[in-house]
Amino acid sequence: MPEIPEVEIAARRLSAALSGAEVESALAPGMVTMKTVNPPLSALEGRRIERVRRIGKMPVVEFDGELSLLVHLMSAGRLQAFDKRASLRDKRSRLLIRLADGRELRLREFGTKQRAWAKLLPAADVADDEMVVTLGPEAWPAPPLEELAAAIDQPRHLHPMLRDQRVIAGIGRSWVDEILWEARLSPFHKGSDLDSEEVERLHAGLDVLGRALEHYEEVIGDTVPDKLPMPLRVHRRQGEPCPRCGTTLEAVHFAEHVMTYCPEEQTGGKVHKDRRLSRLLK
Ligand SMILES: [Zn+2]
Repeated sequence: MPEIPEVEIAARRLSAALSGAEVESALAPGMVTMKTVNPPLSALEGRRIERVRRIGKMPVVEFDGELSLLVHLMSAGRLQAFDKRASLRDKRSRLLIRLADGRELRLREFGTKQRAWAKLLPAADVADDEMVVTLGPEAWPAPPLEELAAAIDQPRHLHPMLRDQRVIAGIGRSWVDEILWEARLSPFHKGSDLDSEEVERLHAGLDVLGRALEHYEEVIGDTVPDKLPMPLRVHRRQGEPCPRCGTTLEAVHFAEHVMTYCPEEQTGGKVHKDRRLSRLLK
C-alpha cells in the first residue's frame, strides 16, 4: 500500500522523467478504471505532461491545457513509466498513456482485484473532487500542532483514525505503526484522551514520513522499483526485539492488515489478544 513517502518519491521521479513528454494516445484496459467519461481519454492526445504531483496518497498527472489525471492506487496499484509499451495481454494494466517518444506511463495493479481508479478532470476541478475535498490535513509536511490536535480530538482509536484520510491524509497500514512507535503511543489509545504532551509526541512522530522520503531520495535512482525498500523498523516485525528497548514486538492481525507495537513502551506492558497466534504461525 503506497503511502506518502512512496507516492511522493514516485511522483518526483515521474515528474523528472516525463515533464514535457507528448501524449500519443491513452487507453484503459481496466474496464472499471476510469471513473469519469467527460472529458474522454482521447482528450489527452497531443497534450504534454507538465508534472506529476501528489495529494494525500493519490498521484496527480498534470497535462497542458488544464487537464489533470487524479489516480487512486488503492492497495496494489503502481503508476510507473516504461521505456517500451506494454503487451495488451498484461492483465495488470489498468491505464496506458502512450507517449510520442515511445515510452509509456502505466497504471498497473497487482493481485486479482480491480480497485485502482482514475479520473480525468479539468485541472480547476481537482480541488473540489469528492476524494480531495474530504481529505484532512497532509501528514507530511506535518500540519501545525494545533491543527493536528483538533483533527484527532475524536473518541476513536489512534490506529484506524490515523489511517482515515478524512482525518489526516497520506498515512496507511505500514507507516501508522512506525508513527505510533516513534511517539510511544498505544494504537488503542483514543484521540480525545491524549494530553497535550502526547499530542506533541504524535506530532513529532510524523517526522518518520519525511525521514523515509529522505531515505528513498538516497537509494532510489531514476526508476522506482515495483517493491520499494521501505525503511520500516517495527511494522510486521512482531517476534523481533524492539529496536529501542529490546522487548519482543507484538502484533494483532486483522482481516487485511497487521498492527505491530512494542508492549513495553506503547501499551503499558499489556499484550493484546491476537486470535491468530501470529508468532506460532510465522
Ligand atoms: Zn520498545
